Amino acid sequence: MTASPVRASDRSHVLIVEDNAANMELMAYLLEHGGFRVTRARDGEQALAGLGAERPDLVVCDVHLPQIDGRLLLPLLRQACGDRRLPVIAVTALAMIGDRDRLLAEGFDGYLSKPIEPQDFARQIRAFLGRADGEDSTPPA
Ligand code: MN
Repeated sequence: MTASPVRASDRSHVLIVEDNAANMELMAYLLEHGGFRVTRARDGEQALAGLGAERPDLVVCDVHLPQIDGRLLLPLLRQACGDRRLPVIAVTALAMIGDRDRLLAEGFDGYLSKPIEPQDFARQIRAFLGRADGEDSTPPA
């Protein structure tokens, strides 16, 4: 029994912004094996440079980054691709109560805490993508 083939055009494109090489490779591996197309950026500058060419379907963004912190990077990412609704999921080791709400209030569409859960990561990202798509089809109240 073989899985149905996935055409390249059907694969969602995820940009990962992460300065920790081990975390980057783990997240990229899990998403690629989950059927996503992945672009890697090790800092905000690299992420912004790549966004001019192509808008990803979703961005996974580490909060603690050199130079441009994830919180500062968030609006810049949306500006760079000309879409203020670009879905951006924060990934951070912050574990304090309230951080999740704070990140969402700052404009992130979701939040995942490190260490990421290898069994669940691709499914979690897929769920965020589904939610983002769903919002587009929701009629205005
Ligand atoms: Mn980091």
